[in-house]
Amino acid sequence: MSTTTNDSTALAATTAKLIDGKEIATNVRKTIKEDVEKLIKDGKRAPGLVVILVGDRPDSHTYVRSKKKTASDLGFVSIDCILPASTSQEEVIEIVRKYNNSDEVDGILVQLPLPSHINEESVLNEIDITKDVDGFHPVNIGKLSMRNRKSLFEPCTPKGCIELLIRSGVQIEGKNAVVLGRSNIVGLPVAMMLMNRNATVTICHSKTANLQQVVSQADILVVAIGVARMVKADWVKPGAIVIDVGMNTVDGKLCGDVDFAQVKEVASQITPVPGGVGPMTIAMLLNNTLISAKRRQGLDI
Ligand code: NDP
Repeated sequence: MSTTTNDSTALAATTAKLIDGKEIATNVRKTIKEDVEKLIKDGKRAPGLVVILVGDRPDSHTYVRSKKKTASDLGFVSIDCILPASTSQEEVIEIVRKYNNSDEVDGILVQLPLPSHINEESVLNEIDITKDVDGFHPVNIGKLSMRNRKSLFEPCTPKGCIELLIRSGVQIEGKNAVVLGRSNIVGLPVAMMLMNRNATVTICHSKTANLQQVVSQADILVVAIGVARMVKADWVKPGAIVIDVGMNTVDGKLCGDVDFAQVKEVASQITPVPGGVGPMTIAMLLNNTLISAKRRQGLDI
């Protein structure tokens, strides 16, 4: 036990149960594949996903290849639009508009980050909100953040975090949830999604005072900061459920924002890195695209 507290609950804690994102993502993909097969059997169209990638970033290319392979494996029509780094903002916007008007396309994803000469907000604003399967259009994020509104799509990594909690039997309602990180793509939306599921949510960031003390109040802790192994065992309430979104490379190895070796001795359930949140992101993207394809073909979702 590496925690510094003498709390008797902490002393009674045992090693946390692993939340196996790989296995959960496999199950999600299996269900999606069956749904796509049913769509086609019923004479409907397979879901169509376009990924627009501008530039040469190797990590983005790897990610887009992985998306394409998974999409094809599940029976989606997958179109990659790979553009040179010199592509202008107007050209990217023209391409987005072209796919907005294509009946066969249910989802449009612009791979971020874009090269610095292209304004990310201007491009994302152009995506038809009914095809915004990444869930980053301001209208979708706005609805996610408002009472009694429903966004058309929830952003993929945050949705993956929630799915991991639900499929691990975690009751979200009434819990104290702390989200460490407030980025537009992870921290902020996951906080909204936890609140929409009736958790009491605290959002922390680089200017939060008494960070460790605030984090230690969490029944559910979601960490997305990009600082390797920053969250230690004595930051975590005994029995807490810990979702680690972080992806950092230390000595050539991938690790999270949570010190897994320590924290697993205190938490009741925890995601590993790799093999936790990571595998869920693409699964959730395809889930959103399937939802869009059903909606656009007049089917119940
Ligand atoms: P950003 O850099 O956009 O945001 C980081 C957030 O963490 C900011 O809100 C920042 O605060 C806060 N922060 C940074 N350092 C500290 C600190 N020392 N103490 C407290 N708060 C801090 O990161 P992202 O949200 O894009 O990504 C976070 C992590 O998640 C990264 O490791 C990334 O690789 C990973 N990730 C994983 C994905 C997956 O599929 N598994 C998908 C997306 C991201 P402030 O706002 O004050 O600057």
